[in-house]
Parts: sequence; structure tokens; C-alpha cells
Amino acid sequence: MSKHNDSQTSQKIYPPVVAVLGHVDHGKTTLLDAIRKSSIADREKGGITQKIGASSVEILHEGKERWITFIDTPGHEAFTQMRSRGAQAADISLLIISAVDGVKPQTKESIEVLKKANLPFIVVLTKADLPTKNPEKAKQELLAEQIQLEEYGGDVPVMEVSAKSNLNIKELLDLILLMFDLHKKPTYAQDVNGANPLTAVIIESKLDTRAGAKATAIIKNGTMKVREDVQIDGQIFKVRSLFDTNGKPVQEATVGDAVEVLGFTEVPSVGSLIKDKSSQAVISQAEQKPLTREMNYQREEEHKGISVVLIADTKGSLEAIMHALPEGIKLISQKTGEVNEADILLAKSTGGIVLSFNTKLKPDVITFAYSEKVLLRNYEIIYELLDEIKDALEGKLQSQMEQIFGSAKVLAKFPFEKTFAFGISVLDGRIARGDRVRVMREDDVLGETTIHSLRVGKNPTSKVEKGNEAGIILSGGLDNQVGDVLLSHS
Ligand code: GDP
Repeated sequence: MSKHNDSQTSQKIYPPVVAVLGHVDHGKTTLLDAIRKSSIADREKGGITQKIGASSVEILHEGKERWITFIDTPGHEAFTQMRSRGAQAADISLLIISAVDGVKPQTKESIEVLKKANLPFIVVLTKADLPTKNPEKAKQELLAEQIQLEEYGGDVPVMEVSAKSNLNIKELLDLILLMFDLHKKPTYAQDVNGANPLTAVIIESKLDTRAGAKATAIIKNGTMKVREDVQIDGQIFKVRSLFDTNGKPVQEATVGDAVEVLGFTEVPSVGSLIKDKSSQAVISQAEQKPLTREMNYQREEEHKGISVVLIADTKGSLEAIMHALPEGIKLISQKTGEVNEADILLAKSTGGIVLSFNTKLKPDVITFAYSEKVLLRNYEIIYELLDEIKDALEGKLQSQMEQIFGSAKVLAKFPFEKTFAFGISVLDGRIARGDRVRVMREDDVLGETTIHSLRVGKNPTSKVEKGNEAGIILSGGLDNQVGDVLLSHS
């Protein structure tokens, strides 16, 4: 069966990517060996030697064949580097602790890394076959490290395993999939054309005397294909070949896959991101104007950074954005769900802005933000959000807040000469001839146009105030309908 397709539902099921951390000698290598041996593919082929610092394991989970990608710890610095670049190779982590020895210095270091990366994890107590084990001691030590274990009312599961007797190996794999399916399934970014832009994270790299620069990458979004041009750290290169975790050449790799990549012009840094060659172009095509032109900097004398209220559709995207926010951003509040008026007021009280990701913005919330002079923006591409925020941080002095002059609702539509005229009712502020208007339909922005002419009754006028009705002709280009809301803005 294909690795990513569930034939019954034809839905894509991507493998979770699991990082394994812990103190030396606590059993990481032995556990990964035992896990690989439990893989269906491994059993069929009679043992496969691992070629790169990652392995793919296939198991039967709730009647379905599923895959999990394990990555050997890419080193604690690599986690930090990835974070600073807005990437996270893993979806879930295993914190490996010997049930005999309990929490040790590198366990504490791993806990720090996991906390900083905000990565969900499972505590795996290894060597549970040994009579000298003392899992309770390990748990008490974890509590002392502020790890909220499930059995004490927290949300971190603990599982005792033995790689020697195979105790709970299959159960651990099921738990990983359960955790991924329930909590951590990431949303996959789409560009303005609905395509999935490539993002792959380098987890290890080296110079091979024969093959040249090569690296292992985890695909986090999109698909990487042999012979396609991609970019890394601003340098374009052609993917020469790809090898899967068994060292077998493949033509492409997709979300959740670990692959060895050849074709780099130089050895890439761990934590660097491979992206589509055109990823900048994709971003610049986005409809929204750069944030820099719209920021409100009345308070820039008072604080140097930008205060942000962040709202995202899922926990996964919220975490991804939070980790990638550049320095100088002060996160006042973050949540998943919809933007509401309280978010706008919170941003206003701190002179900040509201950024939302993949959420539908209701017209009344947009109007409220405008009336409160709070910048509210929604994005569908994480990197677009991040790039614009960086631009805003750098160029904020030239910036100005967009002004909303008023809003009106379309009550009627009738043919007029070769176009259409609309009957409108002004809901807020004023509408004036020559205004730029943004046309909203329910939660969506239909487009931008201008007010060509304005009449009250039969008399042409230049301006109509709140509470009045008027006839209007727009400059065209949009298929306006009854019920649309027009926002007049600067
Ligand atoms: P790592 O440094 O974390 O990769 O640890 P290893 O996997 O190399 O294991 C360290 C030692 O613990 C080795 O001697 C293993 O054989 C032993 N070990 C690992 N897992 C188990 C287990 O489940 N039971 C027993 N009895 N020994 C284990």
C-alpha cells in the first residue's frame, strides 16, 4: 500500500515525525532497534540496516497500515536552530528515561529542549524488564521537574517499556499515532493558488567524498521531487537524487518523510529549510498589501517592538507561528479559534495589532477593528505572516494605518446603462464618491473597487452619512450582489 493513502477513504495519512531524546545509556538506540524490528516492512524483508539518522516504521494501527518516521536526536543545538528558523522537524517526542536510573542531567536538558520547543511528548521508562527498576522514583523526579504526568492529572503520558522483552513496544507505537491523530495533526500550508509549498528541514548534513554535500531532510509541507529546482538559505540548487530511510532511491518525498538529499552546492546547516525555488514569488503574489504600509505607529516612541494578539485555526499552526516570531515581537495573547471584539480591544489597550492565521474574519469584527483603529490581518501562509512581520519591524517608521471611513450594505441591484447600479444603506461613518471600497461577502473579501458615482434619490451627491440610503455605481470588475458589505477606506 502507498505510504500516504488510505485506500478506503482516499484520504492522505501522513506519518508523524517523532524525535527521541534522553540521557546517554538510557536505551534510545536499543528501543529504536526494537521498534524497527516490529515494523511490518522490516519483518517482511528480514531486517534492514538504517542508512540515515531517521527511520520509517510501518505498523497496523486500528486495522490500518500506518507509518511513523523516527528521527535520532538531531542534537539540542539543532532544535534551537530549527526554532529560530520557524521550523520544527518533529511532531511528537519520546523522552527516554531508564526505569532503573531515573532523571539524569541529560534528561533535564532534554526536558528544557522539549519545553522550549513546546513539543508534545511521551515519557518512556525503559528497561522495565529489570528487577532493579523503580518507575515510581522516576515519576517523582519528573514531577519535581514540573512535568505534568497523566496519572497525576496532567497531560503527559508515561509508558513503561522493555526493548529486551518487547513489553509495550506495539502499545507505544499506537500511543504515538493516537496522540498525533488527536492533538498534533498539523495543518498543511497552501499558497495563493491552493498548492502546497515545499518546506523541508535539514536534520543532519555532511560532505561525502564521493557524492558531495548531502543531508537528511524531513518534509514538513509539500513535495520534494528529483530534478526540481529548490532553494536553501537563498541559494537555488537542483535536487539530484533522493533516498528513503532504507537507502532506496525515490523520485519524490512528501509530508512526514525523511529523505537523504543530494545536489546541494555546499553542505547545508542543520535547521536550514529547503523551499520551492519560487517561494518568494509565491508570497509576493498574495493579495494583501505589505503590512509595513498599514501599521499604526502612534506609540512607537513608547515601545520598540510590536505587540501582537495572535489567533490561529489550530494548536499546531499557533505553535509553529509562536516559535517563529522574530525578536521584537511581544506576544500579548495567543489562542485558537475566531477573532472577536475582545481580541481587538486587548490589542488596542497595548497599542498592538491582531494577526490571525487561517481563520474567517467576520465583517463586524473587521469593522470594529477599523473603528478602534487596530490593525487586523489574516494570513493563509505562515511564511507570509512571518515575512511581513519582519518587514514591519524593519520599516515601521514609514508606515501608516489604513483608515476606514465607513461601511454600507447593498440592498438592491438593478441594471443601469451597460452596468449595474446598487441601492445601499450606510451602516457606519460615511461613503463618498471616489472612495476606495473593499467588497465583503459574508466572511470573505471579494475584492477592491472605487465609487464611481453616488446619488440620493435623483440627485448626485458627493457624500452619504450613516443611517441614509443611496444609489451607487461602482467602477466594476466585481460581481456585487445584494447583501454584500462595502468598506470605504483610505
Ligand atoms: P542509548 O545511549 O540511550 O542509545 O542507550 P543504548 O540503547 O545503547 O542502551 C544502553 C544499555 O542499556 C545497553 O547495554 C542496552 O543493552 C541496555 N538496554 C537498553 N534497553 C534495555 C532494556 O529494555 N532492557 C534491558 N535489560 N537493557 C536495556
